Amino acid sequence: MGRVVFIGAGPGAADLITVRGASRLAAADVVLYDALTDPALRAHAPRAEWIDVGKRGFCHSTHQAEIDALLVETARRHAVVVRLKGGDPSVFGRLEEELAALAQAGIECEIVPGVTAALAAAAAAQRPLTRRARGRSIALSTAMTRERRLEAGRSADTQVYYMAGRQLAELGARLLAAGWTQDTPVLVVSRAGWPDEAQSSHAVATLAEAAARHAGRPTVVVVGAGASPLALAAPTLPHEQDQAGTPKGEA
Ligand code: SAH
Repeated sequence: MGRVVFIGAGPGAADLITVRGASRLAAADVVLYDALTDPALRAHAPRAEWIDVGKRGFCHSTHQAEIDALLVETARRHAVVVRLKGGDPSVFGRLEEELAALAQAGIECEIVPGVTAALAAAAAAQRPLTRRARGRSIALSTAMTRERRLEAGRSADTQVYYMAGRQLAELGARLLAAGWTQDTPVLVVSRAGWPDEAQSSHAVATLAEAAARHAGRPTVVVVGAGASPLALAAPTLPHEQDQAGTPKGEA
């Protein structure tokens, strides 16, 4: 009986995997990977058998129950099975189902965290998700319910939406209904961490504008404090400083 290592591959380019993730991957006999992970990651485990179990958006090319069963069956036949997931395995990665299936079968697991898409988006745009005083909490949310309805709320100063790329116009309307003001800043980043990443800035009222730009690409939507551009202080001229070097009016 083998063991399963869940590894977060990070959001894009292969070098965003962690050092631990790369070294566990190198020990794999079999790798079950998602569509969103970078093919260049194969260089870490060239002798392993790589099996694509990816699914994108609404077209579930491999059903979750089949993935669970395949994972258990593979771990029974091989010493080290890697389950490679985009971003972090714990964030919208169906990890709960896969861990439960393995626990039920008595198979040992380990989880190696990864860089989730929200963090890659913040890095790409150089917009910190937390801000002193204004941005004290972050929510990682999906706008999509289990019944495939779009739902948006306001539960943190910075709200990051996953899996809403196909419904940006409707998301804008839902955000207004949830109490965000029309001029709340919104940052949209698609394929964060890849060479072809794209980003655009909007307000809640004009989020629909982003639809064409990010169509068909994995996209995160950052709303609120963490989406606002940096407020650059006007440079202080020497004659405006007191003798201690403190700008006037700041002490
Ligand atoms: N476990 C992943 C999320 C999987 S759900 C993570 O931690 O990032 C898939 C959703 O993640 C996509 O619909 C999209 O909203 C987001 N996503 C994944 N990769 C992305 C990327 N490189 N750029 C922007 N969004 C991404």
